[in-house]
Amino acid sequence: MSERLSVERRLVLTNFRVHERPHIVVDAEKCRGCEMPCVTSCPAGLYTVDEGGRLAFNYEGCLECGTCRLVCPREAVKWEYPPGGFGVWYKFG
Ligand code: SF4
Repeated sequence: MSERLSVERRLVLTNFRVHERPHIVVDAEKCRGCEMPCVTSCPAGLYTVDEGGRLAFNYEGCLECGTCRLVCPREAVKWEYPPGGFGVWYKFG
């Protein structure tokens, strides 16, 4: 019988090969006044809001699901896959 793992545990077990050039760029100017659905939608928790209400984002640890690009109502997310050989490395089994 396989063990059930929490999302947090699965994230710890996932490998990333981070490229120096971000594959996701967020135009924070467009985020002012936005409800920022990316903060609650990103399964990796990469979008946060600082004490001043400004959006902060770190592309390292991205699962490449594309959710942030889809939920952004202001088209503030410029999204592409990382170069070949970089990005998330899922483990199967
Ligand atoms: Fe988060 Fe998915 Fe966007 Fe990556 S692609 S930053 S995991 S919502």
